[in-house]
Amino acid sequence: MSGTGVGRGRGGRIGAADFETQRRLNAEAPRVEHLLRRIGELFAPYRGRLVLTAVLVLVSAALSVVPPLLTQRVFDDGLFPASGRVDVPVLVTLVVAMVVLFVASGLIGVWQTWLTATVGNRVMGALRVRLFAHLQAMELSFFTRTKTGVIQSRLQNDVGGVASVLTNTVSSVLGNTVQVIAAFVAMVLLNWQLTLVAVVLMPFLVIAQRRVGQVRARIAGATQESLSELTAITQETLSVSGILLAKSFNRQKSEIARYTDENETQIGLQVRQAMSGQWFFAMVQVFLSSIPAIVYLVAGWLLAGGAPGVTAGTIVAFTTVQARLLFPLLGLLRVALDLQTSAALFARIFEYLDLKPAIADRADASSVTAAEEECADGERPPRRPIGVEFEHVTFRYPDAREGERATLDDVSFRIEPGRFAAFVGPSGAGKTTVSYLIPRFYEASAGIVRFGGRDVRELRGESLVSHIGVVSQETYLFHASIAENLRYARPGATDAELEAACRAANIHDTIVSFPDGYGTLVGERGYRLSGGEKQRIAIARVLLKDPEVLILDEATSALDSVSERVVQQALDSATSGRTTIAIAHRLSTIVGVDVIFVIDGGRVVESGTHPELLAQGGVYARLYTQQVQAV
Ligand code: ATP
Repeated sequence: MSGTGVGRGRGGRIGAADFETQRRLNAEAPRVEHLLRRIGELFAPYRGRLVLTAVLVLVSAALSVVPPLLTQRVFDDGLFPASGRVDVPVLVTLVVAMVVLFVASGLIGVWQTWLTATVGNRVMGALRVRLFAHLQAMELSFFTRTKTGVIQSRLQNDVGGVASVLTNTVSSVLGNTVQVIAAFVAMVLLNWQLTLVAVVLMPFLVIAQRRVGQVRARIAGATQESLSELTAITQETLSVSGILLAKSFNRQKSEIARYTDENETQIGLQVRQAMSGQWFFAMVQVFLSSIPAIVYLVAGWLLAGGAPGVTAGTIVAFTTVQARLLFPLLGLLRVALDLQTSAALFARIFEYLDLKPAIADRADASSVTAAEEECADGERPPRRPIGVEFEHVTFRYPDAREGERATLDDVSFRIEPGRFAAFVGPSGAGKTTVSYLIPRFYEASAGIVRFGGRDVRELRGESLVSHIGVVSQETYLFHASIAENLRYARPGATDAELEAACRAANIHDTIVSFPDGYGTLVGERGYRLSGGEKQRIAIARVLLKDPEVLILDEATSALDSVSERVVQQALDSATSGRTTIAIAHRLSTIVGVDVIFVIDGGRVVESGTHPELLAQGGVYARLYTQQVQAV
């Protein structure tokens, strides 16, 4: 859809939006019955409150049957009794009884609203957390192939969209159903012939409502899809990186056009959604409002025919009850429609909840070290260096195309505990991919990745990752203070530990030179800090985590030589006593390491120390000579 409106006139954009609207509207409407069962399951934990709500609804409905019957008595026994004179004591008693009933109904109504609001919001809140937690468990590749804004939209717009339905449905359905039944009973009690006149057309309303509901559900699905596109565009273009890109390529106008385009689709769908069912409701309204008139007519006809029991009180009471049938009936029809509309939203939420994480812990997965198993939660056993090994590992990215060459092809290597290994090779050779397989962000397609001698698939993911620290070229920092960013690695770290880590990472003096020191806000994604500063904060963060295996993915390649030297010093202190895996472009930074693996085209083509590889005169020697000559 992106760019459909770029460079076209306004009319062209609207045409494109219309086409898109139609495509989305053609999507299947979800099956309501199946969804209703799953929605019902969400309410299961609140059974007690729901039962109480149902009792309150029943009581208030029972109470609501009484006033019309009292009205009949007011007319026939109080105002116009057979004696011909107003019976004041009866009249006062009846009126007092009516007022007491109304007060009681009001109080019950407030209690009922409180119950349903808490249940509805709790169910929705739990759903939102469940979805968030589920997304946390999804594998990395899910996030690389899905737009961030689209994911955000399911969590916010879709869950938010069903919120009102959840909060309103419980009380509406129960309350209105009982009121409709109560009014019907009262009407039959008053006069069955008139009741027949009033309800004869009801089945047609139900049939019409189902049709309207299906159309609405389809529109709602399309509206949410369009809304998620809008959120994605906003998220992509209004982030710091996005706006920098748009500004530096002068693309603001086309971004506005892209947004306008999607916005047109959204407007069209919203209007359709607002209008769908309006004819239906207008028809219902006309029909229900004209029933009293018809009732007067039929009553007159019955009276003329000398039918018994048709008094003025009966006719007044009947039309009062019948008018009170109007709102609950409309309410029920609306809820039914809302449920069908929200079915589309629920379907989108359940679709995400049904996604199975491709990488999950096995049932028998264990911790990396036996000592960990015996430790209490949050406690850390003594650390010892851990080795890493690849055994004939072949790997393809999940979204790679059929027949595409494997990113890693039969890769084998072994890094002894506490050793420093470097991976070098041309761009796109597969170096970063190697680093993704160690913490099991991706799963090897064939072969075994071993961590501390154990197959990573046998290990608990949380335990595995707790032993690995990664410093990558691009540092991700949250929009929070430096101290909060550092504590992300270890929430319980003391100020002294923070300072020690920052001193080791060569960043402490810089931090205290800021007016707010460790309380300095780093800005969106750390944009307020220089590249070198961010990198050293990232190193301090890893030092706080204190992992046995450290992965440095081109940690200094984006820096100038002065920053690089400072960061390099920080790295030297970070790597001592740990197994270190460095991915390096600048070969000068790794000449002293224990072992170098040269990767080319997804294979390990050479390995050895710097002097050994130079002596071999292969790929490494060629790369090294090129870089030395370039300096
Ligand atoms: P560089 O030195 O440029 O960072 P690299 O050696 O680290 O390169 P990798 O990032 O491991 O290379 O990528 C290896 C290959 O896998 C590349 O051809 C890349 O296009 C491809 N690749 C990387 N990530 C994905 C992904 N998520 N889906 C599909 N292919 C990918």
